[in-house]
Amino acid sequence: MNNQISAAKKDEIRKVADPCTVVIFGASGDLTQRKLMPSLFSLSCEGLLAEQFSVVGVARSEMTDDSFRDQIRAGVEKFARLKPADCDLWDAFSKNMLYHRGNYDDPQTYKDLSKLLAKIDKNVGGACNVLFYLSTPPQLYPIIVKQLGQAGLAQQSDGHWRRIIIEKPFGHDLPSATELNQQVHDVFDEHQVYRIDHYLGKETVQNLLVFRFANAIFEPLWSRNYIDHVQITVAEEVGLGSRAGYYDTAGVMRDMFQNHLLQLLTLVSMEPPAEYDATALRDEKVKVLKAMQRIKPEEVGQYTVRAQYRTYRDEPGVAKGTNTPTFAAVKLFINNWRWRNVPFYLRSGKALGDKMTEINIQFRHVPHLMFPLKPGQQLPPNVLGLCIQPNEGMNLRFETKVPGAGMRTRSVDMNFTYEQDFGKNTLPDAYERLILDALHGDATLFTRSDEIELAWGLVDPILQGWDSEFSPVLAFYESGTWGPGKSDEFMQADGRKWHYACSDC
Ligand code: NDP
Repeated sequence: MNNQISAAKKDEIRKVADPCTVVIFGASGDLTQRKLMPSLFSLSCEGLLAEQFSVVGVARSEMTDDSFRDQIRAGVEKFARLKPADCDLWDAFSKNMLYHRGNYDDPQTYKDLSKLLAKIDKNVGGACNVLFYLSTPPQLYPIIVKQLGQAGLAQQSDGHWRRIIIEKPFGHDLPSATELNQQVHDVFDEHQVYRIDHYLGKETVQNLLVFRFANAIFEPLWSRNYIDHVQITVAEEVGLGSRAGYYDTAGVMRDMFQNHLLQLLTLVSMEPPAEYDATALRDEKVKVLKAMQRIKPEEVGQYTVRAQYRTYRDEPGVAKGTNTPTFAAVKLFINNWRWRNVPFYLRSGKALGDKMTEINIQFRHVPHLMFPLKPGQQLPPNVLGLCIQPNEGMNLRFETKVPGAGMRTRSVDMNFTYEQDFGKNTLPDAYERLILDALHGDATLFTRSDEIELAWGLVDPILQGWDSEFSPVLAFYESGTWGPGKSDEFMQADGRKWHYACSDC
């Protein structure tokens, strides 16, 4: 059957990664324990890692190989999709898991690492292909990259590869991101570099591409001719947690908009790439970012809302009287033929009513309505909700006739959920997908250097405006709500309102 995935394609998708070693810097940290090692273990359970696969954890903490394995096992037990009880591979997996203690700025750490990789290659095999993973605080990225370069560890030879995954945040503004790109490019070629934005590893985000470009029915509607506006919401239910040091200097614009929200926006709005490959897809995303209208610092009062949850200043670790925004709403435009004059409303915040990410596409009203309405009444618009999390799926809201006399109408929902069609717990963690892609050398779902810089170029003027006399007043909102009243007023001023189409998915 045409629409069935061929056996060859399945083999390709489930291809086992090359024999290799993953070297994680910051291996004693939270991300390693909660995401990286649980993902690697799940991949191993799925049979997607080679037999000659090893992990070297690098950090300053005192640990032995065994205590490192114990720490990782605790994380795998708690956070992995597939746990040691689900597959009988823990012993084989953990046997090749080593800990290498050292300071990140000490050349000796890297000389010893080089020897360790040679030893692994002799004993296990696979240590000629190395994926470095930077999972340390970001100020250490340039230091580690430079040391890797000086130790010759970034050099590829004899058909073997060396790659590097770099965690977010990648810079804190355009100059620092540009500088970091230069520092990375001094050592690694761009094709060796994988800047991670874990949102792109989510199945539902990738499904945006399938939804738009594997179905004929939606794309003809996907423009200013039929779409009134687009809303993108990334809401967190939790407040600050333990990340005060980072968050209070970053705020919501750097933490969420520069990466996740702008990535979602590019995927929703880009032109169809000619093929599914890293260059074609990222070229199209870059075109969108280039076509976006920059908000000038003096325009932030018109195009943005910024707010803070009411108890934020009481959180341990934040600066006294801090004005760091934990919520923002922004109106953006893309100046090209497809999207001219279609507003894209983006909002994100902490301590909101729920943890949810959704994209709502509101369609235009019909040009002429033949059914009688009461004076001042307008039919609700058609809204397509692309539900990224937690109710992964999609929801189309449209009008239907209420049974009985007359022509009364009511909005109803047509929806698809991953859970209903594919079963529970079938969605792999975003990190599983992304790490496997990096092991396969596929950078399609990673951010390219020009993309990162263009995104910062859009965010920086907003941040400058917020630091100036043009800034909108910092609003406050109660935890557990959907942000400040100003956010609703922002939409009302344009005759619109925020949608929650996915809560019915
Ligand atoms: P941690 O704060 O847990 O740090 C990781 C490790 O880095 C620590 O275990 C510590 O190891 C070392 N380290 C911490 N501070 C310093 C310092 N000042 N100087 C030298 N070494 C230090 O970070 P996470 O694991 O939470 O995150 C790692 C990276 O991933 C960060 O850049 C973060 O922004 C990013 N990230 C994290 C997410 C998460 O959910 N945790 C989500 C998305 C991105 P040791 O002292 O043993 O050397």
